[in-house]
Amino acid sequence: MDEQQTKKVNTYEVAKSRIKHAVEQLDLPMDVYERLKAPDRIIETALPVKMDDGSIRTFTGFRSQHNNVLGPYKGGIRFHPDVDSNEVKALSMWMTFKCAVVRIPYGGGKGAVVCNPRELSRGELERLSRQYINSVALVLGPDTDIPAPDVNTDGQIMAWMADEYCKIRQRNDFGVITGKPLDVGGCVGRETATSRGVFHATKEAARHLNLPLEGARVVIQGYGNVGYNCARFLADEGCRIIAVTDSRGSAYDEKGLDPDSLLQHKKDTGSVGGYSQDSPIKTIKELFSLDCDIIIPSALENQIDADVARDVKAKIIAEGANAPTTPDGDEVLKDNNVLVIPDILANSGGVIVSYFEWVQNNYSYYWKEEQVEHSLQEKIMDAFHEVYCYCHYEKDGITMREAAFMYALERLAEVMKVRGWWG
Ligand code: GLU
Repeated sequence: MDEQQTKKVNTYEVAKSRIKHAVEQLDLPMDVYERLKAPDRIIETALPVKMDDGSIRTFTGFRSQHNNVLGPYKGGIRFHPDVDSNEVKALSMWMTFKCAVVRIPYGGGKGAVVCNPRELSRGELERLSRQYINSVALVLGPDTDIPAPDVNTDGQIMAWMADEYCKIRQRNDFGVITGKPLDVGGCVGRETATSRGVFHATKEAARHLNLPLEGARVVIQGYGNVGYNCARFLADEGCRIIAVTDSRGSAYDEKGLDPDSLLQHKKDTGSVGGYSQDSPIKTIKELFSLDCDIIIPSALENQIDADVARDVKAKIIAEGANAPTTPDGDEVLKDNNVLVIPDILANSGGVIVSYFEWVQNNYSYYWKEEQVEHSLQEKIMDAFHEVYCYCHYEKDGITMREAAFMYALERLAEVMKVRGWWG
């Protein structure tokens, strides 16, 4: 199933328009927008890699550093064949707002390599990952810019990248990258952190709507790390996962899919497709228009536009992915009273636990799983309540997305002003 059906939307323009809208809503001077409308720096780099057959293939890599007023640039690195500089710029802006909304001392960054990791051998993937770090090492650092996993990258790739960085700097600076395996300074619970955060936020939203999770029907787009773990956490809570799609197919069962055997099927065949005999879902629109209570988009950007949004029957959309809803999709969802937990809040669990990992690396002292889980829950629930109250009591009639952007922007504008960046 083509996850990028609606990708004609320019995500960078969307990011700018969301920031401008928040500046206007808060009645801040346009100088604030001027400081935030473009990344501080974007690097585009050629990455020549020796392939297994001995030939050289040159990939393109990006690192965008949006804003560091609150702390070092922070954000994942994605490997995807369709990624471009506009997408990376936009996603780095999202990170600035994400870190500000959950009150962690980071700015926003994002990286990418244009490649299809499915077509690369393990050796090629390792050489490409190391080459990427070689190209951008000079602008990275535990106090400067800290990458992490994103779409199609994982702990092993972070380990190669951290190792390469340490070799270049001739010292063990593991805090330069988060999302590492436990053996190289990773944090327990980092792998499931994004989904755990989505789960806590969804549960809280359901509570506000008096929607019992027991028996709630859930639809999930994307079955990578985030999609699978969300399915697992929600199924454990009694939800029925009625439909799941990935880039190649779909699975459907009104009685509820078993997350683990579905994952096994995906590992065996490369897709969730074919798991259930005849899934009726052939398009994104069909997926999102299913009769259900909760939708978790956990694939790519721009999936829910106005056309798709019109048919949404769910009461809650929890954005596991970054920027899955377009601005016109948002308007329709608002009119139809769908509660959207925006990406910068819903999926912030990943970067929150990245922050815990970095703190532990800095102190060389490691926490137990209970401490990580407790602190994650506390942080995301605090942010949820701040944003929820902001949109229901302080500025009535705005969406949670608008509230999250405004709440984050207030903080960013305040700190930029104190530091003399405007005003
Ligand atoms: N890639 C994740 C995100 O978009 C995690 C970023 C991080 O941990 O730095 O939030």
